[in-house]
Amino acid sequence: MNNKVACVSLNFDSIGHAIGKSPMVDDPTFSIVFNRIREILDKYNIKISIFVIGKDLEDHKNSNAVKSWHNDGHEIGNHSYTHPLNFSSLSKEEIYDEIKKTDEIIFNTIGKKPVGFIAPGWNSSKKVLHSLMKLNYKYDHSLFSSPILLLGLFKLFYNYLKVRIVEKSPPKTYKLRHIFNRRDFIHMFFGRTKPFQSKKSYTISNNEPDSIKIFPIPSSYRLSYWLTLEYVFPKKITEFIFNLNTSKKNFFYILMHPADFITEEDLKNIDGTQAFERINISLDKKLQVFENRIKQLLEMGYTFKTFDQLI
Ligand SMILES: [Zn+2]
Repeated sequence: MNNKVACVSLNFDSIGHAIGKSPMVDDPTFSIVFNRIREILDKYNIKISIFVIGKDLEDHKNSNAVKSWHNDGHEIGNHSYTHPLNFSSLSKEEIYDEIKKTDEIIFNTIGKKPVGFIAPGWNSSKKVLHSLMKLNYKYDHSLFSSPILLLGLFKLFYNYLKVRIVEKSPPKTYKLRHIFNRRDFIHMFFGRTKPFQSKKSYTISNNEPDSIKIFPIPSSYRLSYWLTLEYVFPKKITEFIFNLNTSKKNFFYILMHPADFITEEDLKNIDGTQAFERINISLDKKLQVFENRIKQLLEMGYTFKTFDQLI
């Protein structure tokens, strides 16, 4: 059963980014949160793929943290330079610059060029694939092949209103009109659901030698699993979606965010975090949810790898 492979993708959406202060000095996501995840990973000897926002690495404490993750054997990937929520609606040049800048920053930080990418909010398009190929990327996992993402967008819309009311000002990192400013609605219904090679499309595969690998979010029957679901849906539904995507399958990945491991305590002295999601759930519970999924996958016979090991 050794051909079952699982990856972990950590989309490093930092606190600095969330409050519009990237790069933030002593950002708790870099200084505290990752160590919690690392403790579990080390226990099971698992290496993961971590996708960083380039601007965050302009603070030397943050970039030193990333260097240590790389030295520990984790993969460092590209998650754009400023994480614009309307990523696919930017111009071709802007998209290219967002990817290129972070490509250079990662190279200067760890001495190795990243080969993998994920777009902010999975908001991707042909233009993104074009830039990735130009910059010699080997894979992309920006494809969200499920309409569940629409629920996420409505949640963001709700959050926008909540932040306006609680903090009496709009969120600092996105505008209301950016939430639905996407080019990928069709992918949610017609995007491919298994890994494939492509040159310029998320719906049609192309096996030519210069194509890149696309790893869609696990979404059997268009029901996708990522760690946030554990805190949004009732347990029974999450369990059902997890099983659907993992049993009798050969490939799976858990996509997660630092917010899945942050508590109220971590943010108590940081302005602008009053309306944050998922922080009222205890740290013990959050760590347990993740560790249990890791254990389940190991029991099912999955071997953990980083995405770049699959290319
Ligand atoms: Zn992100």
